[in-house]
Amino acid sequence: MFEKSTWIKLPRSVLLGHGMIDELGAAVDDLYLSGRPLIVTSPTPNEVAGDRVRAQFDDPATAVVDEASFDAVEELIDTAEAIDPGYLVALGGGKPIDTAKMAADHLNVGFVSVPTAASHDGIVSGRSSIPEGDTRHSVAADPPLAVIADTDILVDAPWELTTAGCADIISNYTAVKDWRLARRLRNAEYSEYAGALSEMTAELLVASADSIKPGLEESAWIVGKALVSSGVAMSIAGSSRPASGAEHLFSHQLDRIAPGEALHGHQAGVGSIMTEYLHSGEDGQWTAIRDALAAIDAPTTADELGVSDEDVIEALTSAHEIRDRYTILSGGVNEEAAIEVATTTGVI
Ligand SMILES: [Zn+2]
Repeated sequence: MFEKSTWIKLPRSVLLGHGMIDELGAAVDDLYLSGRPLIVTSPTPNEVAGDRVRAQFDDPATAVVDEASFDAVEELIDTAEAIDPGYLVALGGGKPIDTAKMAADHLNVGFVSVPTAASHDGIVSGRSSIPEGDTRHSVAADPPLAVIADTDILVDAPWELTTAGCADIISNYTAVKDWRLARRLRNAEYSEYAGALSEMTAELLVASADSIKPGLEESAWIVGKALVSSGVAMSIAGSSRPASGAEHLFSHQLDRIAPGEALHGHQAGVGSIMTEYLHSGEDGQWTAIRDALAAIDAPTTADELGVSDEDVIEALTSAHEIRDRYTILSGGVNEEAAIEVATTTGVI
């Protein structure tokens, strides 16, 4: 009997471009959603675009979340249960989007993603990453029914959020290498389509690095498209593997060791320089990754991340303790080797 099967969940509509936020109402109509929308946002995005979003609905409710946490998800679920919304509209960055995604999954209602910053690929994917205590939970949920990304709004987000989104995409290079390694050594399920799409997304972004500059709406367009295709790669794979390998484990460890110091994408980017070195050695592609990050103004050193050399070594040597996937770091890297890789690559 033939036993292979797949179930790919994708957003039904993706709207990206200048002024697209004003098409949100039309995009929602097109999804045949019914009931009252609950707009989940955080203070700044609410100020920037809350009224423009609410103006497109009859009787919208709004919930403001201040942090991404399990408590915030619980609180949002309570709020939603009182309002009984037909669907959720997440407006903002990672916090409202991750929180709304998890709450929507629990409430069994659809959600629409309206990112106001191109800061990471979670704006399109079905994955949520929520910190809890000193760890971080990656939770599988359905991807948004629609993504509405207005380049006119994205371009006004703080520049470092955009470079973090770029670095998150550049880290796809090593994520795919780790995925292939896991296939070879652990017979992990691997998708050629998803791996190729993820790599191509990183390549296209790097090739456009010259057009990624502060204040240039073209930058938001390039990064927005890349985040969408990275999200599609994750949808095809049915996991975050195409966009998350050892460099993401390094980033998760830094979140624990030096919380709040650096952005997710920036940490993954620096992690990618080092894990590429571990994959292919001194003459490998790590310099290309470092140069690509530098070209778009993303950090390439501990100093630029705002963390100490010791934090980097601790994150590298402890990344294997996160056991959710096989990567180049799974066997563990000892301290001497970690110092060697971080020093040779110029990270410390
Ligand atoms: Zn990421």
